[in-house]
Amino acid sequence: MIRVAVSGAAGRMGRTVCDAVDGAGDMEVVERADPDLGVTLADALTNVKPDVVVDFTVPATVFDNTRLCLDHGTHVVVGTTGLDPEQLDELRAAAGRSKGNCLIAPNFAIGAVLMMQAAKLIAPHMPECEIVELHHEAKLDAPSGTAKRTAELIAQAGGKEPPIHSVRLPGLVANQEVIFGGTGQTLTLRHDTISRESFMPGVLLAVRKVAEVDGLVVGLENVM
Ligand code: NAD
Repeated sequence: MIRVAVSGAAGRMGRTVCDAVDGAGDMEVVERADPDLGVTLADALTNVKPDVVVDFTVPATVFDNTRLCLDHGTHVVVGTTGLDPEQLDELRAAAGRSKGNCLIAPNFAIGAVLMMQAAKLIAPHMPECEIVELHHEAKLDAPSGTAKRTAELIAQAGGKEPPIHSVRLPGLVANQEVIFGGTGQTLTLRHDTISRESFMPGVLLAVRKVAEVDGLVVGLENVM
């Protein structure tokens, strides 16, 4: 059994992750850390010694949480968005020194990962594109981590750095369109997340695989 502590366990994603982990046969939730539950991540790491921490918290705390896990030599799967490139570099160095590995995924939905891979394939042939990302009104960061990662992959693949448009409205979960334009034609990739369960197969896969990655990796495609 993989012993999992969920950080941000009282949140929308954290609650869904707890249910998914408890529903899987090969892992169990050993601690739920969240200020709303009166349990800190530091206490969870010290008292329960989980094999893997899954973090779905808030942009303001994700860096410290991830760093804390690595300093404890504990594997960490990070879904929280908002880490900047300098913080990623620091975490990569911390993972290099740690017995624990780190798998960060801006999007755990398999369809969204495939959308990003498809965007990479299209970019050299249709370099002009724009990204429209649409999320629920309570999402704290904009643009979304998925949109920023898609833009980065498109630029690396030879496309132009795409502008990102962010929409925040009630009724939405997470959606993204990547629209490529060429002479007399457009090509649109669209991914729609209609429930948070869509992220769970990817999260469980990451929990199973994080012990095998090399230090720190970004993107679920690394373990698919
Ligand atoms: P939420 O606001 O519902 O939940 C966040 C929880 O984190 C809250 O319960 C809060 O009390 C808790 N928290 C705050 N500080 C903490 C700390 N120091 N230690 C432990 N817990 C702490 O948010 P949400 O909708 O569940 O989203 C969480 C994050 O996940 C966001 O950054 C969101 O963008 C991201 N997200 C990622 C994916 C993905 O596939 N990677 C999918 C959906 C959401």
